[in-house]
Amino acid sequence: MASQRFHALDTIARRKHTEVTFPEGRISDLFGVNVFGKEEMRQYLPRDVFESVNSAIEEGRRIDRKVANQVAIGMKSWAMERGATHYTHWFQPLNDSTAEKHDSFFEPIFGGGSFETFSGDLLVQQEPDASSFPNGGLRNTFEARGYSAWDPSSPAFIVDRTLCIPSIFVAYTGEALDFKTPLLKSLNSLDKAAVEVAQFFDKDVNKVIATLGWEQEYFLVDEALYNARPDLQQTGRTLMGHTAAKDQQLDDHYWGAIPGRVVNFMKDFEYEAYRLGIPLKTRHNEVAPNQFECAPMFEEANIAVDHNTLLMTIMRTVSKRHHLKVLFHEKPFMGVNGSGKHCNWSLATNTGVNLLSPGKTPKTNTQFLAFFVCTLKAAHDYGTLMMASIASATNSSRLGGGEAPPGILSVFSGSTINTILDQIEERISNKKLSPDEKTEIKLDIGKIPDILVDNTDRNRTSPFAFTGNRFEFRATGSSSNCAMPLIVINSAVTEQLRLFKREVDNLIEKDVKKDEAILQVIRKFIIESKKIRFEGNGYSDEWQAEAKRRGLRGISNVPEAYKEYMRPESVKLFEETGVLTRHELEARYEVKNETFIKKIQIESRVLADLAANHIIPTAIKYQNTLIDNVRGLKEIFPNEFESMAAEEMRTIHEIADHVKFIREHSYMMIEARKKWNNVDSIVERAYGYEGEVRPYINEIRSHIDQLELIVDDAIWPLPKYRELLTIY
Ligand code: ADP
Ligand code: MG
Repeated sequence: MASQRFHALDTIARRKHTEVTFPEGRISDLFGVNVFGKEEMRQYLPRDVFESVNSAIEEGRRIDRKVANQVAIGMKSWAMERGATHYTHWFQPLNDSTAEKHDSFFEPIFGGGSFETFSGDLLVQQEPDASSFPNGGLRNTFEARGYSAWDPSSPAFIVDRTLCIPSIFVAYTGEALDFKTPLLKSLNSLDKAAVEVAQFFDKDVNKVIATLGWEQEYFLVDEALYNARPDLQQTGRTLMGHTAAKDQQLDDHYWGAIPGRVVNFMKDFEYEAYRLGIPLKTRHNEVAPNQFECAPMFEEANIAVDHNTLLMTIMRTVSKRHHLKVLFHEKPFMGVNGSGKHCNWSLATNTGVNLLSPGKTPKTNTQFLAFFVCTLKAAHDYGTLMMASIASATNSSRLGGGEAPPGILSVFSGSTINTILDQIEERISNKKLSPDEKTEIKLDIGKIPDILVDNTDRNRTSPFAFTGNRFEFRATGSSSNCAMPLIVINSAVTEQLRLFKREVDNLIEKDVKKDEAILQVIRKFIIESKKIRFEGNGYSDEWQAEAKRRGLRGISNVPEAYKEYMRPESVKLFEETGVLTRHELEARYEVKNETFIKKIQIESRVLADLAANHIIPTAIKYQNTLIDNVRGLKEIFPNEFESMAAEEMRTIHEIADHVKFIREHSYMMIEARKKWNNVDSIVERAYGYEGEVRPYINEIRSHIDQLELIVDDAIWPLPKYRELLTIY
């Protein structure tokens, strides 16, 4: 029987691709048709209800039950008119996916008949009784009740006849079991702290939101080939596979013409995304073969996170229609680039100002600098925590690979800003400024052009780069929920803004003029965060050495990174900003370590199975062919045989050596797992898995990859890289 690999290749060869056609028309005509947004609320809710919901959202207030009931009625009519039969609270548990449990509007009446119902109570709260979500001990299974609660700041939407209500997910004690709860809290604290600082410059500012524009990278693989790779199916990445002779070395994929089949897939998911109000803007080929990217126009951060997680689900579903599989894993293929999810982050005011965009006057530029240095100092004080926020079993195989940011956080400012920061540091002293000095500084600050966006030198090797009107956190992994890095950035910046405000107020109290006080605190922050600034190549070895000299700590391995969450400074940061309690952090810490262990455990099991059941039997089969051949040669050419069969005999040996190595090391890997599985402490076990189980995975792989080069292609059971990395 032909192997799965050939069956898959055959399936592809026979498959007919169908073009997807879309209704004609403009994107703006279908944008948001499946969203219960502001316009829909205005139309479906009584005016006073609409206004009270709206102001509650703006001010982050609770919505009372009476109002909720009215919203439920309006929402239900809207959804049913669009064919919805079910509703669900839609939330983001601690496992990098989304969760939903559908209930129908339909209500049978005992004794006959039925009606459709949906009340405020059901809108506001649902009890998923979901004891199987990761909870880090916040909820014992016998006390399994957690509940989800409506987040009115993110609009409800319809997917496939189900009304989805964005929600938070908390334990009965109120402790967060999801990403959204702490994200909303961090946005709320950030708002307050940023407003206070912005008011130094403009009294009309009364609300500051964080904006997020994510860039989602992903790979596509033909579904038939995917199904013939148990490792891809079970772990999301290839655990073996020799690099193809040609992959990305000719740089002919990046921004190349997008293959027709892929464009078709993109149009299809974009169509769905537009209907759900996800403002996608760009699509292009990425560096590695079969790697692509899409990015929307930035939005308010909470909505942007919802849209990212929703889009990932849509992409997974839509890819099936195209016989493709979308891979969000950070490093599905060794030897070619991995995938990230750059998070572009900034702050916007109710007055329409981007606080991280230089303005036109010295005053607006000073405001820009104030927010800039607070972010800089946040990165300085919490750089390792920021790196911890993006650390995972999957992302760690991407980071530091000469293609993605290293484990050390640094900030790239761009030469214009960098020079201004240096000038401020030099020119201002703690003494009172002379009028001349003041003018000079104003001139310096006035020099920041307002059109930096297009002319900043882009540094693509910096994990946290200022790109003219926003910071870009480039270390975030493609599969993760970008809420976690945002939670850390928001909290850290909140703390710095509070500190900034306090220090300026203190100086003002000491009779320093406001303008000057602000400049002095800006200068102080510049000095205190100096060592985090780095303009050079973050991928280089020199930077590793330089960072060490500067005393910057890097993140070396995953459990080590997670430890950052429990450092006293981190606990204090999250508690003081009201984002997470110590107890919640402990739970998260446990979930993270547990997830890490499970992912490595699954990889290790899949690898050992594939080695034993697919690779070794194939290698032996080929070895036997060679042995038969050598025997035959000996029989026919008894005298010349030794020199004739020398190479073949060497190959037989080589196969034996690889098989022996793979067998022995698979056994040792399983023993290492057993040893660490018996350790009670989850943290210690995670360290054990990182240090003693994980290294076997790559070692065993390298021998399997050598076998792939030796063994007859006609019997190799798993699709090869050159096949996986082609779109047919
Ligand atoms: P690049 O690959 O050069 O970084 P992209 O166009 O792929 O550029 O992505 C840039 C992202 O940055 C987009 O999602 C964009 O909306 C986002 N962005 C632009 N301005 C802001 C801002 N003020 N706040 C947050 N994100 C922003
Ligand atoms: Mg970018």
